[in-house]
Amino acid sequence: MTEFVFAPPAPASVAVSGSGKRFPVRRVLCVGRNYAAHAREMGNDPDREPPFFFTKPADSVCDSGSAIPYPPLTDNLHHEVELVVAIGKGGSDIDSGAALDHVWGYATGVDLTRRDLQDQAKANRHPWDWSKGFDHSAPCGPLVQMAHSGHPARGFVRLSVNGEVRQDGDLGELIWPVPDIVAFASRSIELKPGDLIFTGTPAGVGPLVPGDRVRGEIEHVGSVEFTIAGA
Ligand code: MN
Repeated sequence: MTEFVFAPPAPASVAVSGSGKRFPVRRVLCVGRNYAAHAREMGNDPDREPPFFFTKPADSVCDSGSAIPYPPLTDNLHHEVELVVAIGKGGSDIDSGAALDHVWGYATGVDLTRRDLQDQAKANRHPWDWSKGFDHSAPCGPLVQMAHSGHPARGFVRLSVNGEVRQDGDLGELIWPVPDIVAFASRSIELKPGDLIFTGTPAGVGPLVPGDRVRGEIEHVGSVEFTIAGA
C-alpha cells in the first residue's frame, strides 16, 4: 500500500439523485461554443468546426444548494447552464454509435466563467484556465442514472436568476450532440469512469452579482440551484 506524506484529499464527487451514494469525479471536461446562438453572441461564426475542449479541476464541482463566494480577480462573473454527461465506462477511440454505452448519467450544471479574464486571455492568446477553472466554478445538480433509451436528445435547457429567465435553449440545438462529444474527447484522451463533460451553453449568458439566486434546469434531467455570496 502506498504511503503518502500526508493524507490525500477526499475525491471530488457529485450527488446522485434519489440515492445517498455519490459519484466520484475524476476530471471535468468542458466543450466550447456548442450552440449556434451562443457562438454568435460571443462573436463567432458557428460553422460546425470540430468541438474544442477545456478543463476545470475536479474539485471545482460543488453541490446544488451551495452559497458560492463571488470569486476574486473578476468584475464580470457569468452563468452558463449546461447538460453534464457523467462517464461510467472508460475508453479510447470510442465510436459515436457506441458512445452512449459509456454514459452513466446526466445532470444540470453551470460553467461559471470570469468573462473579463476570458476576454483578456483571448486577446493575449493566453490559456483559459484562470477564467474557467477557479474554485467553485462548476456547480452541478444531482446526477440521474440513465439507460441508453433515456438519453435526453431534446428538452429545454433553462437558467433563471432571481426568478427571471435568462437562458432558454433546447438540447436539440446542440451543434455536436452527446455521442459525438464523447467520441471526440476519447480520441484525445482515454476517458475513464468519473469523468464529467460539460457540453456547452445556449445563448443568454450574462453577469451574476452577490445575492443572486440562480436556478438551472434541464427537461428530463433535473436542476441545480445556488446563490452568489459576497466576495
Ligand atoms: Mn461553457
